Amino acid sequence: MSNRVIIFDTTLRDGEQAPGFSMTLDQKRVMARQLERLGVDVIEAGFPIASDGDFESVKAIAEELRETTIAGLARTTRKDIDRAWEALKRARKPRIHTFVATSDIHLKHKLNKSREEVLEMAVENVRYAKSLCDDVEFSPEDAVRTDLEYLCLVIESVIDAGANVVNIPDSVGYSIPDEFAAIIRTLREKVKNIDRAVMSVHCHNDLGLGVANSLAAIQAGARQVECTINGIGERAGNASLEELVMIMHTRKNLLSLECNVQTTEIYPSSQLLTHLTGMKVQRNKAIVGENAFAHEAGIHQDGMIKHRQTYEIMTPQSVGIPESTLVLGKHSGRHALDKRYKELGYDLSREDLNTAYEAFTALADKKKLVYDADLIAIVRDEISQIPEAYTFESLQVLSGSSLTPTASVRLRKGDEIFEDSAIGDGPVDATYKAIERITGVCGKLTHYAIEAVTIGKDAQGEVLIKLEYEGHSYNGQAVSTDIIEASAKAYLSALNRILYTRDHVR
Ligand SMILES: [Zn+2]
Repeated sequence: MSNRVIIFDTTLRDGEQAPGFSMTLDQKRVMARQLERLGVDVIEAGFPIASDGDFESVKAIAEELRETTIAGLARTTRKDIDRAWEALKRARKPRIHTFVATSDIHLKHKLNKSREEVLEMAVENVRYAKSLCDDVEFSPEDAVRTDLEYLCLVIESVIDAGANVVNIPDSVGYSIPDEFAAIIRTLREKVKNIDRAVMSVHCHNDLGLGVANSLAAIQAGARQVECTINGIGERAGNASLEELVMIMHTRKNLLSLECNVQTTEIYPSSQLLTHLTGMKVQRNKAIVGENAFAHEAGIHQDGMIKHRQTYEIMTPQSVGIPESTLVLGKHSGRHALDKRYKELGYDLSREDLNTAYEAFTALADKKKLVYDADLIAIVRDEISQIPEAYTFESLQVLSGSSLTPTASVRLRKGDEIFEDSAIGDGPVDATYKAIERITGVCGKLTHYAIEAVTIGKDAQGEVLIKLEYEGHSYNGQAVSTDIIEASAKAYLSALNRILYTRDHVR
């Protein structure tokens, strides 16, 4: 059996459909290009029948990328499959990924169908998909809770009908590694034609076992893993791509497995996703969290130089973290800034670089040292992927223990300046009310967090918020050395997302 593991990335489908991670068409294209640079084998670009937006993004990505297989998801119905094919057909390497639930609990409560009916649906539609597209993947949803004998029958039948990839999902994140590996082994033993298809797995992280279950399955003979950047996905997320790849890379001696991923593109991919969605990974996240290689800095450095391997099982450079995390100062030039951005994975246009440079010099005036995190924050803050309806002009706040907090806000929209004031429970509340009065958009604030971007009393504060509006959730983020100003700008960035989505997406 080949030791090559196929990396199937579903950041843009399973990841993107999770609350808080939605992306626009342009953002998805940017992410897809980076995934191709990263070297994943398959990009699941969306679920074309789910919405027109999904359809358009699958189509755009299918038409643009030439190296990577582009998959589109479809239920086992002709309508779904036709829609998926319509989006995929211009891809150089298209794949239709069709699925139907097979566990009794789903059959009874969701599909209201018998096992025989579901089997027939699966076979008929795999055959239909195969008549359109050479590459067909089939998933029995909730496979882990499916009767194993029935699962074997379904898998054997869909392979006969033309499926060349059979994916075993732990859709609800319920399995544990031994058990999951045993399911894979049973399928390999009992399904007569299993050699005619690649076995794939798709593990969710509800019990924190997404990566462990995927690894156990690979060791039992699966040769495709479905995963996402930063482990994003429905509920607790999917198996994390960076963890799986670095396990195979770091423990190569033991596992003898290979994949096509360029590990040095891992960190830039993770950063890009964070930037596009406004959703940070936790500090202690394996591989890509801020603390993952924290011994690089500070008091351990001396020991690290003397005994590097005592502490380090992999290098930060191997996952694409730039060599030093410092430091630009007031006197660093545009060229140095450009070089640093490139090392951080941002290839800025001339115009964007000018904007970033202006923000950088303004920041360097306020604080002595500018860290990588500050630079990333500048890109996030100043070079938004979404055109801004309103831009921030200025803010004045009156607040104190014996005052009613009052805020006056000035915003610009095109050539017009708008100004309004409001009182509130606190300075941030007053500011938000003033912005609402100007824009007329009233979202519900469901999340507000503030953290220091770097260290020291002069550090910039980053504010991350979520606004709920008409049933959707929108992120906003901004940085400033003044936290009230950062709060105002974060609110404004979420409002701009709302306005953009309202006017362009729906
Ligand atoms: Zn999933």
